[in-house]
Amino acid sequence: MGFLKKLFSNESSKPEKHYYTFNVKCNRCGEIIEGRIDLDNDLSLDDEGEGYQVRKGLIGSGDNRCFQQIKVELTFDSNRQVLERQITGGTFVE
Ligand SMILES: [Zn+2]
Repeated sequence: MGFLKKLFSNESSKPEKHYYTFNVKCNRCGEIIEGRIDLDNDLSLDDEGEGYQVRKGLIGSGDNRCFQQIKVELTFDSNRQVLERQITGGTFVE
């Protein structure tokens, strides 16, 4: 019995985490800030229900005495691939 129990309690399909990461540059101080979207928790269905939308506010470390918030809006399709990226207060950098 001990052998069977061991066999069946083996968790082989542990869900893995998915993240979408990107870098933005602050328009005011030029700091590069990394943003991260948790594809399992941060996405919300858009109005049509065909994709997802995420809004995120990013603030730098404060080292430059700059507290400008950079607002990012991302659109994903149903396969969680990025379709569109919009940003206010900064620019996307690769
Ligand atoms: Zn800044």
